[in-house]
Amino acid sequence: MNSEKCIELNKKYLANNYSPLQVVYSRAEGVWVWDPEGNKYLDLLGAYSAVSQGHSHPKIIKAAHEQLDKVTLSARAFYNDQLGKTAKYLCETFDFDKFLPMNSGTEAVCTALKTSRKWGYKKKGIQKDKAEIIICSNNFHGRTITISGFSTEEQFKDGFGPFTQGFKSIPFNDANALEQAITENTAAFMVEPIQAEGGIIVPDKGYLKKCQEICRKHNVLFILDEVQTGLSRTGKLFAYMHDNAKPDILILGKALSGGVYPVSGIFASNEIMDVFTPGDHGSTFGGNPLAMVIAKVSVEILIEEKMSESAAELGGYFLNKLKTELNSKLVETVRGQGLLIGIELKTEAGVAKDYCKKLIPEGILCYTSTSHKEVIRIAPPLCITKEELDFAFEKIKKVLEG
Ligand code: PLP
Repeated sequence: MNSEKCIELNKKYLANNYSPLQVVYSRAEGVWVWDPEGNKYLDLLGAYSAVSQGHSHPKIIKAAHEQLDKVTLSARAFYNDQLGKTAKYLCETFDFDKFLPMNSGTEAVCTALKTSRKWGYKKKGIQKDKAEIIICSNNFHGRTITISGFSTEEQFKDGFGPFTQGFKSIPFNDANALEQAITENTAAFMVEPIQAEGGIIVPDKGYLKKCQEICRKHNVLFILDEVQTGLSRTGKLFAYMHDNAKPDILILGKALSGGVYPVSGIFASNEIMDVFTPGDHGSTFGGNPLAMVIAKVSVEILIEEKMSESAAELGGYFLNKLKTELNSKLVETVRGQGLLIGIELKTEAGVAKDYCKKLIPEGILCYTSTSHKEVIRIAPPLCITKEELDFAFEKIKKVLEG
């Protein structure tokens, strides 16, 4: 089927909740994508940071194939022979006691919120139904009614109310605001280490560490949503490592899937995770053996192939190149960490998506941040090479310098 027909079917049969660029993925390998006509593109979006290991990484595909031939779903009514093994590997590698597996990033965020409320009532002694969770303005944590309800983006909320109570918003990158917002009813503070969908906003050095200390001082759980920043994307296994911080609850998704099959979950200590009793929370597909095999090998690849190190090195190289060698009147600023980079355009430049469109015939695929339409987001698979980044740079330069 050609691209035109694929797009026509999408328009006819799909809900209109996305507005994709006019490129059809038909095959992909590493950082490269081919459309049905055989045109080749360099993927600088990496499925919103979810294909960090590269498209169709052979080790992940092999592991998935092998598991497909054995068993794919037990549901948690029974045990399966992969879940415990993967949980042990992930907990030991990430230095947490326990794992609670889910599927999408959004579900993992909701799981963290439920965990912290339960902890607030059972362990901290917050009065029934009084628990508060502090979040930041300009956040992006997913799309459920609860999460949309505490978004500060009007479009995400419009037409979806009424919303879940118990959330308090403070400015991002403001540790004093956190300390002032905490009350005896505060169960948790949840934040993204870098606001990715919010425009690649990198907080000041020391912010996360300060937040962790404030949370500890007030007996408040410190939750980090590393769904996008986690797993080598920013040049360390987790973005909090740049700040010598550590969350009480770590939320992961996206790259835990190797870009192959949805896997997400939260990690925490025994003390926190032990608030759950059977039946409190769950998911039919969470922890299924196919997902678990894929998650384990996906993390092994990041470590074996030193993807944190290359994200740090090549991300630093590319960011510096964009900052020093891109002389475009359209660009306001360039920022980022590792291979999570945002090119913010000036207001008079118009929307960033128009420039993403212009990059398509140049063989470059990238997209904007979800809630900041003036930012071109760059988050390629972490197996990208210096030569491929140089190729991307020349094309970006051509389009943005006009
Ligand atoms: N949290 C963060 C920080 C994200 O960036 C995203 C998605 O972009 C999510 C949560 C939601 O993840 P998913 O789309 O897999 O539900």
